[in-house]
Parts: sequence; structure tokens; C-alpha cells
Amino acid sequence: MSTTSKRSLDSQLLGRRTFLGAALGTCVGTPLARLSLVQLAASRSGSLTKERRDSMSPAQVIEELKKGNERFRTGKMTPRDYLAEKRASAAGQYPAAVILGCVDSRVPAEIIFDTGIGDAFIGRVAGNVVNDDMLGSMEFACAVSGAKVVLVLGHTACGAVKGAIDDVVLGNLTGLLARIKPAIPATEFDGEKSSKNAPYVDAVARASVVLGLGEIRRRSPILEDLEKKGTIKITGAMYDLSSGMVNFVV
Ligand SMILES: [Zn+2]
Repeated sequence: MSTTSKRSLDSQLLGRRTFLGAALGTCVGTPLARLSLVQLAASRSGSLTKERRDSMSPAQVIEELKKGNERFRTGKMTPRDYLAEKRASAAGQYPAAVILGCVDSRVPAEIIFDTGIGDAFIGRVAGNVVNDDMLGSMEFACAVSGAKVVLVLGHTACGAVKGAIDDVVLGNLTGLLARIKPAIPATEFDGEKSSKNAPYVDAVARASVVLGLGEIRRRSPILEDLEKKGTIKITGAMYDLSSGMVNFVV
């Protein structure tokens, strides 16, 4: 192999660096034992490149998020060199997704999707409610920065959802919970409709995610238009605190 073609191959391999941290062996179909040092280094360092991000469809980005969650659930997370990721991303970022999650300490999106520095924009607010600032952040992520997926991520046993069901009144929290409340009448549920009934709380949380997707499309013509063109996909999911599983709702 000539020096030029070797360099070209290395550059291709680096360009194919594990999106969202996927094991390179899985990514390019090469058994781990046969990976070169260059490939191994690429699998643990660097950040998502513009070329790699732009080469993926929204559906492929969602698929990579699902694979990352599977690695998390099965204890096979990508070994990471955060300092290398920091160095690789300092001059520019090309995240593939923007995720709106809850502030709940048990739902760190970067960890449950096994993403690295530079892979995804993350916005967090109690109850993962859609508001103007989050919409602006999503518009920046997709229309300016080129992210392919908008993901609203709810979760089981959400305290904000319980607060909305219980009609909690507390300072600025009252206004936040008001954004969740439309999900209560929108939830179809047979059984005790109480914050003490976990399946009901989770059903309301799921309804809130679905309503949130509608809010995004209704209140952001920019994002709705990008989705109609197929440039982005707006989707939602529920994270199960017990199993670690992310279930997409649409
Ligand atoms: Zn929550």
C-alpha cells in the first residue's frame, strides 16, 4: 500500500469514527481483534466530524441513539478519552441531535445514549417542557448547526409530572407545571388516576412527550419546515428509570 493510499485509508477510518461512540468494529464491520492502532485510537477519541454527521440521515441518527442506549443498558459503554474529545471538538462542533430532557438527576442523556463530547446538544428542564427558549435552542441546533434529530425525552416516575397531577402550587414551579397539565386530560387511562399510581404517572408523562412534539411543530415553523423537507426528524421517547431502556413513542 502506498503512503498516500495508507493515509487516505487512515483518514477514512478516522472520518468514520464511532458516531455517538459506537464501537468501531460494529460500525465498519471489522472484528475488534483486527483493528489497527489507528482504528483503536479513532474509536476512543475525536468528536463527531461534519462529514460523518452530514452523511447520516435522521433515521440513521435515531438508530445510533438506540444503539448507544443498548450499550448503556448492557454495560458495554464506549471507553472514552474525554480530553481527546475535548481537543477534537474545541475548534468546532457538529452534533447530530438536540435532546430535550428532564432535569431529573437519573436521566443524563449523554450517559444513557452513550454519547461523547460534541455528539449531541442537550437541553434540560423539569418535565422536559417545551418553551420559547428551548424552541430557540432547537432552531439553533438544526437550522444553524445542522443537527438531524429533535428528541423530546420523558421518563418514568417524573416528579414534575406528579406535581402537575397533584396541582402543586410553588413559586415559579407553578407556571412550569402548567405546561405539563394539558397532558392530564389527554391521557387515556383505565385505573386510578393518582400521582401514587406509577402506571398513570408514566402514561401522563408519555402523553406530555407526544403533546410536546405537536407544540414544537406548531410553534416553530422553522423546525416544522425542516421536518417536512426530510432534513430533520422530530421524535419523542420515554426513558425507564428501572430498566435503563429508552422507548421511542412515535
Ligand atoms: Zn422528570
